[in-house]
Parts: sequence; structure tokens; C-alpha cells
Amino acid sequence: MGALDGKVAIVTGGTSGIGEKIVEAFVAQGAKVVMAARREDEGRALEKRLGVRFVRADVAVEADVKAVVDRTVEWFGRVDCLVNNAGIPSPMVSITEIDIATIDQVLGVNVRGVALGVKHAAPVMISQGTGSIVNIGSVAGLRGGLSAHIYGASKGAVQALTRSLAAELGEKGVRVNCISPGAIVTGIFGKNAGLEGSKADRVVGVLKEGFATIQPIPRAGLPEDVAQAAVFLASDGSGFVNGQDIAVDGGQTSVTRGWSATVAGRAAMAKRIKDAAAAL
Ligand code: NDP
Repeated sequence: MGALDGKVAIVTGGTSGIGEKIVEAFVAQGAKVVMAARREDEGRALEKRLGVRFVRADVAVEADVKAVVDRTVEWFGRVDCLVNNAGIPSPMVSITEIDIATIDQVLGVNVRGVALGVKHAAPVMISQGTGSIVNIGSVAGLRGGLSAHIYGASKGAVQALTRSLAAELGEKGVRVNCISPGAIVTGIFGKNAGLEGSKADRVVGVLKEGFATIQPIPRAGLPEDVAQAAVFLASDGSGFVNGQDIAVDGGQTSVTRGWSATVAGRAAMAKRIKDAAAAL
């Protein structure tokens, strides 16, 4: 028996990275999945491989998002879970050099996209009296200095939107939670470096070594790590979890520096103190 048996889920941005692994995990747990993204070839390939339905959609466009929800209801008669995963990075530039069109584009996908998904899926969930919405935030919304300014701002907005929506929709039986991933090995970093989407997806392996040293857990974060948290939040097992942000970051945002560095730093400090005392 799967944790999501009988459930119908919409996952945005399922054509690569974290979204693709969420789709795989949901299917493995028994859900019927409709995935929405812009790349047609990747979407159709997943349809064939996993038996899911693909709807080509840009989450920043309201008519597209409405069509995704409408098609899902048409095919399956309900929507139990919406994962607002689609997101884009923003350029790593100084605020003094920021291009205003980029602000609109990043907020359009990362924030308006989430709001539109909820706007159109919530009425279906409210009429059912049940539903679970999972937004994908980022540790960049929790801490400064981890990513680009506008990207961080957009993810902070997703976290705040999650809490606000949980207040309204919780009263109607619909839970809204957020997952904030740390450094996860996906093509988003290649895209941020200027690579075309599918090419970025094919070179993710080079990130693993560097990502293994960012957080206390000594390995890179993987899309599967985020997918397992999404399964939990989509399932009835999280029935009393609402308005929360779960950081799937290997402890990155819980610690200032690693334990080994702390021990070494304290040993060096103790030696300086003893040396100073010996010279008295
Ligand atoms: P990817 O670039 O691999 O995935 C992004 C997905 O979003 C793709 O499937 C892409 O599909 C889709 N997408 C982008 N823009 C749109 C749009 N306008 N409409 C519909 N779909 C869109 O990156 P990740 O898997 O890493 O990112 C997934 C989420 O996780 C994002 O929200 C990201 O911000 C977040 N995240 C990632 C972290 C990481 O370290 N990887 C850390 C913290 C958060 P297509 O191009 O086909 O439209």
C-alpha cells in the first residue's frame, strides 16, 4: 500500500530536477499525477516513462494554470495535492546592477506562479473539504548570502505566502506547507550559469563534490531527499501539519559552522589563552 494511494496530485515543474523526482515518488506511492511545465519533449517523455499526464503550461500565465487544474478535474474528478515546485534562478549580480525586467520575471514565476496555482486548485480542494498544498521555497528565503537577491526575496515571499494561506485554507480542510531545500544537485545551477535547460540537466554530476561540504551531513543533497518530504506533506500522515516550512538542507541553516571547524577553532583559542597565561 502506498502513502498516496487514490490521491490525485498536480506537480508543477516536473520536467527535471526536484520536480521530476517528486513525480516519480508520488507515482511510486500510488498517486495519479498531472505534471505541468514548459518543455514539451521532456514532459511527453515522462508521460511515457511514468504513466503520468503532462500539460504544457507556464505557471506565470493564469490561463495556463487554470487549464492544468481544469484538465486534472476533467481526467480524475478531484485534486488532492498541489506541489508548486516550478521555479527559476536569478542572476548573481549586485543590487546596483539589477535589471528590472529580471525582477518581474523571477517574481512572476516564483511568486505569482505559486499564488496562481493555489488560486485555481483551492476551490476544488475546498469543495472536497480536503487537500494538501506543498510550496517549494528555499534556504535562500531564510538566510542572506546564500543566493541572488531577487531569488532569495521570491522564496521568502513563498514562505510568507504559505503561512498566510494556511490561515485561510486550514479553516476549510486544506493544509498549506512549504519545503525549503538546501543545496540540491539539479540543473538550476547550470541554468544560472547560462546553459540551456536540457544541457544544464545533463551536467549536474559536477556539483556533487562541492555540495558535500556545505552542511553537516557530508554528502550532496539530492532531489530524492526533497521528494520524500513532499510525499509526507501530501499524505494523510501529515494531517495536522499546516503552515510549516520544512528545511531539507542537511542542517545547513541550523548551524553556523561545522563541528570540526568549531572544535579546531576552540582548541586554537585555548592554546592562545594558555600561551598568554604562561607568559605572565
Ligand atoms: P530545475 O531547473 O531542474 O527545475 C525547475 C523546473 O521548473 C523545471 O521542470 C522547469 O521546467 C520548471 N519551470 C521553470 N519555469 C517555469 C514556468 N514558467 N512554468 C512552468 N514550469 C517552469 O531546478 P530544481 O529542480 O532545482 O528546482 C525546483 C524548485 O526547487 C524551484 O522552485 C527551485 O527554486 C527550488 N530550489 C532548488 C534548490 C536547489 O538547490 N536545486 C534549492 C532551493 C530551492 P520547464 O523548463 O520545462 O518549464
